[in-house]
Amino acid sequence: MSTAEGCLFCRIVAGELAADIVATTDAAIAFRDINPQAPVHVLVVPREHHVDVAQLAASDPALLAAVIGLAGQVAGSEGDGQFRLVFNTGPEAGQSVFHVHAHLLAGARLGWTPA
Ligand code: 5GP
Repeated sequence: MSTAEGCLFCRIVAGELAADIVATTDAAIAFRDINPQAPVHVLVVPREHHVDVAQLAASDPALLAAVIGLAGQVAGSEGDGQFRLVFNTGPEAGQSVFHVHAHLLAGARLGWTPA
């Protein structure tokens, strides 16, 4: 499996850094964001290192589907199944960790103010 030296989320996947893990599959893990922006704010990441969603979609679309599938499962177990999924892609879009992750946001009526 591909990992990246010093990658924060690779270290969480490997169990080297603690995280509040809510669900796992063979392909992906879901853990609570350390700085939640909604009542439910869970990050869903593939175990394998990919930089962002564009690169993952190009190189392994089945793995991207697995990430989205796990997000849907967590949305059902953590709430009523209504959710927002965000992939910040690139620094200008707000990406700060360069291991692809879906932000699963739920648990409240969500606003829409990205700018
Ligand atoms: P990005 O800005 O790349 O879209 O999202 C990165 C997310 O990772 C942020 O929402 C941030 O709060 C979260 N985060 C950063 N460091 C940690 C950490 O050590 N543990 C957890 N659980 N989340 C983290």
